[in-house]
Parts: sequence; C-alpha cells; structure tokens
Amino acid sequence: MSSIKKIAVVTGSNKGIGFAIVRALCTQFDGDVILTARDEGRGQQAVTDLKKEGLSPKFHQLDITDHDSIVKLKSFLQSTYGGLDILVNNAGISYTVASTTPFSEQAEVSVKTNFLGTLDVCDTLFPLLRPHARVVNVSSMFSQKIIKECSPENQAKLKDASITMDTLKTILQDFVDATKSNTHEAKGWPRSALGMSKIGVTVMTFIQQRMLQGDPREDIVINACCPGYVTTDMYKFKGHKTIDEGADTPVYLAMLPPNCTSPNGNFVSDRKIQQWG
Ligand code: NDP
Repeated sequence: MSSIKKIAVVTGSNKGIGFAIVRALCTQFDGDVILTARDEGRGQQAVTDLKKEGLSPKFHQLDITDHDSIVKLKSFLQSTYGGLDILVNNAGISYTVASTTPFSEQAEVSVKTNFLGTLDVCDTLFPLLRPHARVVNVSSMFSQKIIKECSPENQAKLKDASITMDTLKTILQDFVDATKSNTHEAKGWPRSALGMSKIGVTVMTFIQQRMLQGDPREDIVINACCPGYVTTDMYKFKGHKTIDEGADTPVYLAMLPPNCTSPNGNFVSDRKIQQWG
C-alpha cells in the first residue's frame, strides 16, 4: 500500500509573513506545502519566486471571504491528499491609521476577513484534519492590548472560559452593529477594527482547542500566535523583524512534534506562551 502524502496549507501566502511560512515549511516539513492566494496571478508569481530558490510549493486559489473558494480547496485536498496535516491561518487585512474609510466599514470588513473568514476556513477544513495535525491561527499582540480597552463587562464575556463560538460571533456582530450607529464606545467597545477582529481570532482558538479535546482524532494541536512587528506591506514596511523572523513562531507551532502537550490552546509569541487577556 502506498504511504499517505502529508500536506500543509498556508492562507494568504503570496507575500509577507505567509510567503516566509511557506518558504520555511518547504525546507522543514516532510510533505507538500500549498501556497494559497486570493489572486491567482499573485499566487503563481510567488510560487515561481520560491521555485527560483530551489523550493517546490504547490499553488491553490483561496479567498477566505469566499465560501465557494474554501469549499473548492477542501475538495482538492480531499481528492488529492485525503486529509490535512498543517493549516496556518495567516491571511489578514489591516487599515492604516491614516485610512479615510469610515470606521463602521473598517469594522465590518476587518471582522468579516480576519475573524469570520478564518473561522469559515477552519469550519470547512477541520473535518479533513488527520491525527497529529497542527493548526496555527495568526493573531496579533494587538488583541492583547485592545481587550484591555473593552469595558470590564465586555472583557469578562470575552475571557469567560466557557464562552461558545455562537456567543463569540454574536459579540463581534454586536461590535460591528454598534459602529454603524457610532455607539460602540458607549457600549464598551474600543475604536479598533483590527484589535476587535484579532480578539476574535485569539478567543476563537481557545474555543476550538476546547472543542477538539473531545475529538476522536488524537493529538490535534491548535494555537494562536503573534508573529511580532514584521516589515511587510501591512504596516508600510515599518516593522523591525524580517518576514523570515516573523515566520519563526508560526512555523515552530506548525511543526510541534507528535504528542506534544504544550503549547496547546495558547497564545504564543517569540515561541513563548503568553498570559492573554
Ligand atoms: P501582508 O499584507 O503582507 O499579507 C497579508 C496576506 O493576506 C496577503 O497575501 C494578502 O493577499 C492575504 N489576504 C488578505 N485578505 C485575504 C483574503 N480575503 N483571502 C485570502 N488572502 C487574503 O501582511 P503580513 O504578512 O504582515 O500579515 C500576515 C498576518 O500576520 C496577518 O494575519 C496579520 O494580521 C498578522 N500580523 C502581522 C504583523 C506585522 O507586523 N506585519 C503583526 C501582527 C500580526 P493580497 O496580496 O491579495 O492582499
């Protein structure tokens, strides 16, 4: 019987930290690595660039805000590999401080992409995860900073150890709705679209880890992380880490050895578990 080929998927990997995560996995992971991008041309170009470095990533289109696109990736993984071993949810967006986009639109689009898009990828692809799979949700230290700017009542809701995914979705929707009537601050929410969307990603990870504890597939480990302040398009190349340095913690989490007990269900930066919230 032929052995099963292992497979890793990295979202939003045509540039920035995701690109460097693919680069590192191509050298460290014993299996195929799929570079995904919402734009086919940008994705294929990134694959060509890595091939020039002697690496062999595969390509598949993936827009995390487009459910059909996620389902197409799932079908491809199912038929070609029969499962999934590493999923790095890296794709994300951020508005600049100088952006003139109305705050309510920034809130809606940030939550839709960073939180709901990532959650849809997880909900769709998790059935494919094999025993010993590793999932990494790229969040941000910003989620740590911004939760402290929520009212004590809202902080308590978000830090509730038994919070459900439905409650988390409702909380994020309430925040988005409140921005439309400019009542978010009165309702105890901060003026940070990115921060709220990344709080969603971090808390989502804690919930997913709890849900996976009862899963019959053994040793599936999921963590959230911050890559650090990295020089990419996102922050106009002002960060102090290179993309390869930014990829270090996500790749470390993606490559955690079989049957590791920690980190699991944690928020990690610089390879260290951080007290969150
Ligand atoms: P970049 O802007 O360089 O890269 C973001 C990537 O996400 C791009 O490939 C982009 O594709 C992709 N993307 C955006 N929206 C979608 C979508 N709907 N579907 C699929 N892909 C999408 O940013 P970084 O590399 O800096 O960021 C990577 C991750 O790291 C993000 O989640 C970010 O929040 C997080 N992070 C970054 C920090 C930093 O200092 N840079 C700090 C903390 C967290 P496209 O080219 O088509 O736009």
